[in-house]
Amino acid sequence: MIQATLKQLSQQLADKKVSAVELAAAYLDRIEALNPELNAFITVDREKTLTIARAADARRAAGDRGALIGVPVAHKDIFCQQGWKTSCGSKMLDNFIAPYSAHVIEQCDAAGLVTLGRTNMDEFAMGSSNENSYYGAVKNPWDLAAIPGGSSGGSAAAVAARMTPVALGTDTGGSIRQPASHCGITGIKPTYGVVSRFGMVAYASSLDQGGPLAQSAEDCALMLNVMAGFDARDSTSLERAKEDYTRDLAQPLSGLRVGLPREYFAEGLAADVARVIDGAVAELKKLGATVVEVSLPNTELSIPAYYVIAPAEASANLSRYDGVRYGHRAAEYQDLVEMYEKTRAEGFGSEVKRRIMVGSYVLSHGYYDAYYLKAQKIRRLIANDFISAFAGCDVILGPVAPTAAFNIGEKSGDPVQMYLSDIYTLSVNLAGLPAMSVPAGFADNGRPVGLQIIGNYFAEAKMLNVAHQFQQATDWHRRAPAL
Ligand code: GLN
Repeated sequence: MIQATLKQLSQQLADKKVSAVELAAAYLDRIEALNPELNAFITVDREKTLTIARAADARRAAGDRGALIGVPVAHKDIFCQQGWKTSCGSKMLDNFIAPYSAHVIEQCDAAGLVTLGRTNMDEFAMGSSNENSYYGAVKNPWDLAAIPGGSSGGSAAAVAARMTPVALGTDTGGSIRQPASHCGITGIKPTYGVVSRFGMVAYASSLDQGGPLAQSAEDCALMLNVMAGFDARDSTSLERAKEDYTRDLAQPLSGLRVGLPREYFAEGLAADVARVIDGAVAELKKLGATVVEVSLPNTELSIPAYYVIAPAEASANLSRYDGVRYGHRAAEYQDLVEMYEKTRAEGFGSEVKRRIMVGSYVLSHGYYDAYYLKAQKIRRLIANDFISAFAGCDVILGPVAPTAAFNIGEKSGDPVQMYLSDIYTLSVNLAGLPAMSVPAGFADNGRPVGLQIIGNYFAEAKMLNVAHQFQQATDWHRRAPAL
């Protein structure tokens, strides 16, 4: 049961082979057994979860046929969820119980999904390794010495360790795709604006986007059907007709044009990751795809552009943590200014402080034009690169990260090394495009490697089709760590 996909669990519930309460209890037992080692969850509340599960069983008993009623889910601790601690991985919000739920949580609740708990993450989603969490690092279930990736590392580790069939994450510069890749699971970041950011703690608002992490592309499609949708409370939410993201899963891939960006296979890509990606491309060729070379010439500039824009937005977004409205407040202070200073000095971790300083600097008078405005211009060029590339192909394929998961502690002392590992994911967010990670093999050290599929705007169904067909032909996504 614990190895089942979302799709299979939905069938078992419909066939009354299992109840929502039995399912929830089984996953809670698994979390209880594994979490002390993996640290994938920040908050688990057995009674609360079982109460939700009982309500799900009651809904089914009353004749409600919703496919996902009673299916367990884990939520990244960045989504406000009424009555649950929503810490965002920070001491600043360690005492914060959300008074309302994010739009995506409302949608999950309405669909009847049962919350198992709240997953660990880098503080305020800033990081690529989950080592920046106030609650400690998360371990990769495939290799306890390895990072699970970040910032949605708790969500990815939880799915990989089968502590939940599915989890929600967010992706500002790779935080769904990169942990999915490092943990050997499937994750999708939708087109910017497809999933509402209402109630999702803001990091960099023009880049943040929520999405699911699961075992398979099919499960991701089912979850995206729940998560996506217009929401007037997010001014960047797109008013589009509801889509069924499963609609193209079964389409054959004959005639598919796959673009391989020259810049993604150049210097810096580890040989064993390149081997895995080559193998995946060969598999897709067998399924009928043709390969064309494309160019994304400004790829290298995505790192400096992103690490100006994201901190700039973060510095503004995080100004709300002032010790007055909610969250941590210093115990002792002489006056208002000292209260602010002490509160923020105590409440934020060092990476968050670093970003607030960088962001404030690049937005300040005299530097705005040289850094922030310049970065915005580069952002446009990066988006234009993709528009040109998509003139000649349907999807773009490449690695998610230059190497498989590195060791815990390996890069934590060197923020620039950490930033460089985001090279293949950042430009997608700068352009607002959808992209996903699909398990495609293993590195020489046995750690999982994901294939990145980048789609054109609103091409989620096409990407999921490619991923699903790949998963029908391969079994990488069915491999699970021995735990
Ligand atoms: N690693 C990137 C950062 O630290 C991306 C994080 C994310 O997508 N939330 O900003």
